[in-house]
Amino acid sequence: MSALFLSSLRFGLSLPGKLRVSYQSEQAVNDLRRDFAGRAQNFLELCDSEVFSRPAGVYAKLFNRAEVSRERLHSMVGRHGVEDALMELASKGVFLNIDEFKGRKPLVRSGLRMMMDASDLDRVNGPSIPFLSSGSSGKSLETPIDIPGLRLLASCIPAVLRFLESEHLPVVLYYPMPSGSGFMHLIAFSLIGKVPSAWFAQWMKSPWWRSASGMKLAALIKGCRFHGISLPTPRLADIKHPTAMAEWLIKHCPEGAVVPSFTGSAIHLVHAAKRAGIRLPPIVFLLGGEPITDRKRRTIEEEGHRVFPWYSSVETGRLAMGCLSPRRPDDMHLLEDRIACIVRPRTVDAGGEERPALLYTSLHPNSYKFLLNVETGDEAAIDTEPCGCPWEALGFRRRLFNVRSFEKLTLEGISIVADFLSEMVEEEIPSHCGGTPADYQFTEEEGPDGVTRLVLSAGPAVPLDSDRIKEIVQDLFDKKFQVAGAMVLHAASIIVRREVPTLTRSGKMLAVRSTMRGKSK
Ligand SMILES: [Zn+2]
Repeated sequence: MSALFLSSLRFGLSLPGKLRVSYQSEQAVNDLRRDFAGRAQNFLELCDSEVFSRPAGVYAKLFNRAEVSRERLHSMVGRHGVEDALMELASKGVFLNIDEFKGRKPLVRSGLRMMMDASDLDRVNGPSIPFLSSGSSGKSLETPIDIPGLRLLASCIPAVLRFLESEHLPVVLYYPMPSGSGFMHLIAFSLIGKVPSAWFAQWMKSPWWRSASGMKLAALIKGCRFHGISLPTPRLADIKHPTAMAEWLIKHCPEGAVVPSFTGSAIHLVHAAKRAGIRLPPIVFLLGGEPITDRKRRTIEEEGHRVFPWYSSVETGRLAMGCLSPRRPDDMHLLEDRIACIVRPRTVDAGGEERPALLYTSLHPNSYKFLLNVETGDEAAIDTEPCGCPWEALGFRRRLFNVRSFEKLTLEGISIVADFLSEMVEEEIPSHCGGTPADYQFTEEEGPDGVTRLVLSAGPAVPLDSDRIKEIVQDLFDKKFQVAGAMVLHAASIIVRREVPTLTRSGKMLAVRSTMRGKSK
């Protein structure tokens, strides 16, 4: 038996004790309120243990260089609050940009140069389960999450279900197998006493138990079964033909269901049901993994379903929850009980474009990774105008909207780092298809059906026809991404278009562009 199977089994066996204690929405709301009130104190205590007690750590070095002592930090936070203190720290060089954080480039400040290892920021106690996210090109970053960390991830779900008046509905997952989102939501819902009724997968490595992730899941299921708790096993509901899931929902959830998924997958499901003449029960979609645009939201809501955006990443955990009186399609309240967020403009590409990058800081004692002004590659706008919704009543006044990534494109919940696509345009595609890098460009584009696709523009100088170019690009994707690539291709998300690549306003050509970002400010 592999070490991964054994550690997952150990984790699975340790879970059920926690699963038996159901987490009521009353308690969840009280915890959110308590942790919001204690956020400044919690932050200072985390800094005591993760910065000032670890002199060899990256943060201690950055604080030293910025000449910010423990006493000085206490006085900054006491006088101006957490966010202003974080802004001041960022201006003194106390932050990690995405390349430094993920170990893609060395951290360089005057008088300091070092290579980061993101695992130095882990804070896990007891059994944990590893989750993967994209790291430097070609390798994944592994973030172990312990049970207190998973409970923190789960802790806002009872409040979500209560605010959406959906506490009585069954939960049905729609995530690929394997996928971190599938695992995370399987465990998180189980931890609040809402074990999902089913897990449908828009793409599945078959048989599912034959991969490292499958083994992890099998061990988890075995561990829980030992204690009489039955977790669902994934079953296929093909992204292009998810009618199996639609039919299952009609049969088993006539009153409706809560379906956590990716935005694009929800759209595929709704379209497939419509095409097949199937009337789905009313679904409350909890959606993340991809930006929610006005068109995407409307496409789903016009069919009688509800859309609730939520936002998280493996490294940060849950970040924000959909506003219940939204003015914009992805209005979300920052979960200020556990995270602080500031915006710092930064140049993001060769065209010199500046974007409002978000920097996150962990505040909660159960955070499984300690982040202090860490960039995640996302940008957004923030406002604090009153909305009157229940999140605001808890104290969470800061809302994020227009959340986009400035360093990756996301299709069907799969992130493709822009640098990888640039490399393809600069090296591999011209060498296989002819022409020069100036003849190619990738663009992320939303179609009239609400589905996001990846378009490869190939100029007139390229000698091959579109079908051949598509075949070659699909091969390159397959080699690079395996599961994720197959998923993207499976969704038929790549289109080759014969056209001259578009230039930026300053006349530069970018290898990768998005038509889905707002205007930079
Ligand atoms: Zn609101």
